[in-house]
Amino acid sequence: MAKDASHCKGGVGLERTVFVAAIAGLLHDIGKFASRAGETPPGGWEQAKQEAGYAHAALSWQVIQGIVPAGWVEELRAVLYHHHLAGATKENAVDPELAYRLALADWLSSGEREPEEEEGAKGIPYVLSPFSRLCGHHAERYYPALSLGDLTIDNAMPAQRTSQPARDEFGRLWQSFHRQAERRLTVMKSGEEEAFLEALYALLQEYTWCVPSAYAKHVSDVSLFDHSRMTAALAVCLTADGRDVQWCQEVMEGLKDKTGALPALERETAVLVGGDISGVQKFIYSITSSGAAKSLRGRSFYLQLLTEAVARYVLRELGLPVTNIIYLGGGNFFLLAPMCAQARLPAIQQEVSRRLLAAHEGGLHLALGWSPVRAGEFRVGEFHNAWEGLHKAIGRAKARPLAHLEDEALAQYLGQGMGVGGDPDKTCSICGAEFEKPAHRDTSGAEPLRLCSTCYGFEELGTDLARAKWLVSAHFAPQALPEHVENWRAVLQSFGMDFWAVEDLRQAVVKVKPAVMLLTPLKGGDVEKETSRIEGVTQVEVYRFFPQLVPWCEQPEKHICTFDELCEASTGGFKRWGVLRMDVDNLGRLFRKGFVRKNGQGKDVNHLTLSRVASLSFALRLFFEGLLPGFAGAGEHAALMQDRLYLQYAGGDDVFLVGSWDALPIFALEVQKGFCQFVCENPYVTISAGIALAPEKYPLYQAADDAGNAEDKAKGWRAEKNALHFLGFTMDWQEVAEAWRWARQFSTWCTAEPPKAPKALVQLLLNLYVGYAQEREQAVRRGRCAPAQVYFGPWMWRLAYYMARRRSDSHMPEEVKQELEELEKRLVQDPRQMEIIGLAARWAHYLARGERKG
Ligand SMILES: [Zn+2]
Repeated sequence: MAKDASHCKGGVGLERTVFVAAIAGLLHDIGKFASRAGETPPGGWEQAKQEAGYAHAALSWQVIQGIVPAGWVEELRAVLYHHHLAGATKENAVDPELAYRLALADWLSSGEREPEEEEGAKGIPYVLSPFSRLCGHHAERYYPALSLGDLTIDNAMPAQRTSQPARDEFGRLWQSFHRQAERRLTVMKSGEEEAFLEALYALLQEYTWCVPSAYAKHVSDVSLFDHSRMTAALAVCLTADGRDVQWCQEVMEGLKDKTGALPALERETAVLVGGDISGVQKFIYSITSSGAAKSLRGRSFYLQLLTEAVARYVLRELGLPVTNIIYLGGGNFFLLAPMCAQARLPAIQQEVSRRLLAAHEGGLHLALGWSPVRAGEFRVGEFHNAWEGLHKAIGRAKARPLAHLEDEALAQYLGQGMGVGGDPDKTCSICGAEFEKPAHRDTSGAEPLRLCSTCYGFEELGTDLARAKWLVSAHFAPQALPEHVENWRAVLQSFGMDFWAVEDLRQAVVKVKPAVMLLTPLKGGDVEKETSRIEGVTQVEVYRFFPQLVPWCEQPEKHICTFDELCEASTGGFKRWGVLRMDVDNLGRLFRKGFVRKNGQGKDVNHLTLSRVASLSFALRLFFEGLLPGFAGAGEHAALMQDRLYLQYAGGDDVFLVGSWDALPIFALEVQKGFCQFVCENPYVTISAGIALAPEKYPLYQAADDAGNAEDKAKGWRAEKNALHFLGFTMDWQEVAEAWRWARQFSTWCTAEPPKAPKALVQLLLNLYVGYAQEREQAVRRGRCAPAQVYFGPWMWRLAYYMARRRSDSHMPEEVKQELEELEKRLVQDPRQMEIIGLAARWAHYLARGERKG
């Protein structure tokens, strides 16, 4: 039976057995990647099959010997026997406990592989996009076999593929993986275990996200990366809880049993842990617009970092490796922890809250919830209950954010007065905090700014991010939070993390040792040339998603555009900046219900598994954090977006972007088009967005709020959502695209030299629309027209009359007249077009507006 909680030491680094279990999990199926690339096991497939039960296990073992430092290899021999447990004996130099834990972890993580699904298997050796079958959709589309670093918005889209194994494709991928493994992994030595795990994890993410974990007999919608990291997470849990051979054997018997009722399935096996940082919106946007452009990016990025730091703090306190992160991003994280973690979680939550309270004075809270999962619950048809259980636990924690803190801790911080305020020399121009002396004075703008050290820190971070050639994070033992928190760096350090965005690696100086330093080269960062080893710091290169879109101004010297400059950069005389917010519709439901499918007996079965949670969240990150910035250079109107968009935040499924008002809808349209392709044209997976416009000096929090309201309108418009709210109109994406075509047409006519149509045409269309809308609203109010119904009425006569008069204008070119005639016909046939033309006319009106003073 399970031993006591003594295995859960935590806070002292990784135990050796946990470290070995994590690597074994990560690499147990690496042979599948090798075999995709045409590698064969030593001695041939037949011999391998006899020895290891499954040939790929022998191949995995061979790969491990090539990429794991020699001193650690022998401890991993269990991988060779995880399918052939009879061979897992001390005589074969195998730790049988590890072999059994690994085997059970493999089974639990692939709860998705049950026989009835095999009918869907096509034997296609690529990873099936999880969206291709979500919510009953049927479109078999597969990811390309490319490393994450090689993806662009053009080659990353899932596509139809044949069962002919594209050996060359996987061969190239494999060779590149192997080269990188030699460079990044084999050089590690004793004492660098944690760094090794980080490097291995990142490398697998980069290369095996597109290698199927199973495809011959099973549906290949889980990548080798997602299957391996979840197997590792489970192997770690079984190890930390000290599960012995018998324990594992009994659970495996239970899983094999057709009745599915053996008592071993009732055993609690691991804990799902979820963290949610609340207060995020308020924290990011409650700043004045003066200098907001510079500090906003820093603020929102800091929240990403803080989420990461807190998640890693929890892991470290529980003695768990990076493999036990299921998902991390956007103020949320999900972890998998051993049962023994439950005893420590309340104290950890309290400690995190205490630190957050001291650092942010109640502005940010962590709600931490957890829920144990029984062995049987990892199976298809049951895992969704465990997932739901976790969300309920987080919800309860959220409802009482500070309930677990002692009164003294609360009183200490809440008792601190807010100060008297009023003296502008002693308050921060950005956040309003009071100080004796500003940390920084900014006299570059129209009005001089005084910044507190916190805001100045965010400003520097924002600027650094824009110029960075390297992202560097360091991980070490948590530090005490200083009496006076200088800036964000001190908060991260108190959770055991530091971060730099630098042009030169020498600028990243780790103060706390020993530390593991993770380096991510961006454009211009050359790994081979620049890494040098620092005493007491292990450096490893890792891939990291980094969504980045920065508008640059060249005059007077190169700098990031301010909101005022984005405003100034709008087309024509209508000067506005704006905020675009967008996210996926009904995301929670996609996870909870998206995998429900009918079984052979016509009964609904929920196919959600731990690996599918991992794969669906990875897919969303790939789109929003990996591909999203690419859409600013896409389509025929790419020039309109160049240096006019500033991505403040993209994480999870969430986007917050500031830009020149007219660039925002173009970007939104491109993103939506790309998303549609990315989700395999799945009609149930949609996205909605809101755009709010703001004049110069408009408060940021107000613009953020307005955009939030606009997004709510888009989502509240109709049950299926899938819409954009812009310029007071809400419509579906196709309609927006059509409105954009007309808006461009109208404004081109009006601004041509000589004009092909007078500006009065746009005004006329706008008036016709307003008349239509008023008439329609009255009709709805009087019950003569249902809200969703198209409305025919007197507006049609006015339309015909005025359009005829326009067309009698002798200066109007024939082509324009013809287009207008076509337009009139369409409007009369389908009054919904009136909405589209209304938006188009308003859009064109602003685009074509001349320069005017004031
Ligand atoms: Zn401030």
